Order: sequence, then structure tokens, then C-alpha cells
Amino acid sequence: MTLPPDLIQSLQSVKGFRESSFKGVHESGEQVTAIRLNPAKKSSTSHSFIGQPIPWCPLGIYLDERPSFTLDPSFHAGAYYVQDASSMFLWEVIAQSVPDPQNKKVLDLCAAPGGKSTLLASYFRDGLLVSNEVIKSRASILVENLTKWGNSNVIVTNNDPAHFTQAGITFDVIVVDAPCSGSGLFRKDPDAIAEWSLDHVQHCSLRQQRILNDIIPSLNENGLLIYATCSYSQEEDEMIVDWLMSSGEFEALAVNIPKDWNIVETFSEKNNAPCYRFYPDQLKGEGFFIAAFRKKSPATAVGKGKSASLKLPQKQELEQVRAFLSIAESFFVFKQGDQFRFIDEKWHHDLQQLASNLYIRKAGVGVGELKGKDMIPAHELTMSTLPLHHFNQVSVNTEEALKYLRRQDLYLDSSKGWNLVMYESLPLGWIKSLPNRINNYYPQEWRILKQ
Ligand code: SAM
Repeated sequence: MTLPPDLIQSLQSVKGFRESSFKGVHESGEQVTAIRLNPAKKSSTSHSFIGQPIPWCPLGIYLDERPSFTLDPSFHAGAYYVQDASSMFLWEVIAQSVPDPQNKKVLDLCAAPGGKSTLLASYFRDGLLVSNEVIKSRASILVENLTKWGNSNVIVTNNDPAHFTQAGITFDVIVVDAPCSGSGLFRKDPDAIAEWSLDHVQHCSLRQQRILNDIIPSLNENGLLIYATCSYSQEEDEMIVDWLMSSGEFEALAVNIPKDWNIVETFSEKNNAPCYRFYPDQLKGEGFFIAAFRKKSPATAVGKGKSASLKLPQKQELEQVRAFLSIAESFFVFKQGDQFRFIDEKWHHDLQQLASNLYIRKAGVGVGELKGKDMIPAHELTMSTLPLHHFNQVSVNTEEALKYLRRQDLYLDSSKGWNLVMYESLPLGWIKSLPNRINNYYPQEWRILKQ
């Protein structure tokens, strides 16, 4: 692997950069595999993974070897997420800066495929997470990953960052994991080397400023802004931090890190703001950069004052939905097309604001559609972290689970009608048992193709 000479040259004076070991670790071909467990979905497989804990994330584990995640049904059930270990440092940053996670409104602005969003959903369990991705095709994988993760108070939007000033909602935490030149991922993805250039770094730097500029008005006073990239270039890292600090609106936050984590603390040149660099030759993880800020001025995003009227169920429909779910009154039930959905009542108003101004790809959890007296249940419901004990269940072994996930025919001893397919106590989806066959309701677009 030949790293771009211009990159190596540009890093000579950057703190923590050691040319020979940096080149060595890229040439070694060594790969690090890490997962982060879903605290809301415990399965015996995910909890039997063997490996070292990741010091900066209590849910993170380094795996000794890379198994086939595609062929592990508990992966499809949302029991864990495969993520670069360095990125999980986000957990430590928020744990130190927002020790009380209760009821926070959180925006993950550049969210696909969902690594940071699933981490945020686990930390801010009863908060509202708005997870945004501007590129339409990438928003679909974000929806899939967040659906599998299961938290109900999540809204996925597909908007340009500039649209948020009109959204009528402001946030306590905003994470900008910015699109960047990607040098931090060269070890994992050597093909990306061909796309790297100094011009691209400049282009990314301007885009990063534009993205931050567009979203700062939506951050509350005393709110936390986290800026991250997977680039080593100062133009996208410390210089962006200096640009951000030059507005006078932010206080930079230091993160306490034990020395033996080998994370390199740097300081931006003009404002001396603390920043954190991850070099793959010095710790087990890919290249990463992160910095955190507290906002000193109030939010100025005013919104249009428009509030969409969400389609509501009729009284009788609502009773049917509640009876089907046996959920508590604190859920707000609404309709999207013919589908009934719910979100925690306390986020009802925010959802209305967002729905009137942004393009929503998913809000809360889908319950299903009513056909006369019968509910055709949504797959999304099976992935949610709600208790589903009152539905019929059928347990499957690994072979049966894989057949189910491939949407193949199944022969199971199930009760008549709708059944949850359970793998190691986690739901995988629905089947419907008819007198002469079983219908497999696993979503066509998510089925496993690998044999
Ligand atoms: N946070 C994600 C995670 O942890 O899985 C990774 C995000 S990736 C580094 C950056 C994301 O920004 C990409 O999904 C990309 O599509 C999106 N993006 C690209 N251009 C953008 C723009 N102009 N504004 C906002 N996001 C953009």
C-alpha cells in the first residue's frame, strides 16, 4: 500500500505523527475488528463474544477474529453493531460532557450508516434522537440500522443541514461527523487512496465549514457540539476547530484521557482548543479526530412556526392499536398512510414541528395496518425494544433462523396466526401460520443473499 506522498508530507509537523510506524501499520495489513453491544438487546451469542474491552466505551469489545456477521442471526436482530473502535470514543466524550442523559434532544447531522446514531440512541435512552442523512440512498441503510437497533424515540430525516434552521426545533446535543477526505480509513479501505488529493482536502474543509455554519443556529445555549472526522489533515481538523472558535460562540471542552489509551491530545493553533487524534500505529483503531464544544449563545433557529397536523387514528382504531400492543397511555399514536405508528408522548410536539419542515424517513415505531378487525403487524415492531411477550412466539435454531432471514420456506411447530420468530430470546420478525403452510414475513429488501 502506497500512501499519498502529499499526505505524509503534510503530516510531518502534526503532533503524534510518526512516519515510519504509521507507514508500517498501513503496510502490515493488520485489521482490527470491534463491535458495540446493544444494551437493550441481550442475546447469548452477542454476550459470548471473546475479546478485550474497548477502554473508552463500556459496550465496546475488540474481537480476536472477524466472524461472518452476515451469518449470525443475532446481528440481524440488532444485538450489536460492527464499528471502528476509535469512533466509539464518542461515548467517553458525551459521558464526560453530558453526565445526565435524561430527556435530551440530540441531532446526529451526518448520520449514515448509523454508527454514531446507534451509540447516541443507547446513551440518550429516553431522549429524542434526530438522525439525519442528506444523501437519499444512504438514508435507507440508516433507517435499516436504526430500526434494527430498536429504540423508539428516533426520527430519521433526509435533509440538507441548511434546512434545520427552519425546522422549528433546537437541540441540546449536535454531532457533526463530517464528510471528509477519509485518510483515517486507508488501512481498512486502500481503494480510497486513489481518491485522496490536497485539492479534495480543501474542498472538504470548505464543506465542513458550510455544514457547521448551517447547523450552529439550531444548538441551544449550553448545548454540546461534537465535531469529528476520519481525516488526519489539519485543514479538516484543528483548523476547522479554530474557524469554529473564531465566532466567539463556543467554549472548547477538554476530555480527560488516561495516558495509556494512547490518544493524542493536540491544541488548535490560534485558540488553543483541545482536540483528540487517533493514530492506528499507536492504538487499536482507525484514524479519527474529535473535538467538543459548549455553546455560549442561545439558539437562533426560529423555524417557520408551522406545525404539521399528523394524521391521527379514529377513537375505535386507537383502541384497537392499544389493545394489540398493550402499551401504556404515554405513547402518542399517529398514522402515516395506512400504517399506525407511535412515539413517546413527550416528543409529540417536536415530531409535528419536524414533520412540517423536513423530509421524514421514519419516526418512532411502526405498529401495522388494520384490515377490518385484524392488525397486519409491521416488521419494525419486532425490532423495537418494547416488550412483546403477549404475542405468540416460536424459537428457532441457527439453521432455521438463517432460512427465515433468507425468506425461505420454513417448517416450524408454531401457533395458528401471527408468531414472532425468536432467536436466543431476540425477535427476528413475523411469520404467519396457516393450516397448510407458514408465510415468511421477513422484509424482502433486508433478506440475506449470502449462502
Ligand atoms: N456518522 C456516520 C457513522 O458513524 O456511521 C458516518 C458519517 S460519514 C463520515 C459522513 C456522512 O455525511 C455521509 O453519510 C455523507 O453522505 C454525509 N454528507 C455528505 N455530504 C454532506 C453534506 N453536504 N451535508 C451533510 N452531510 C453530508
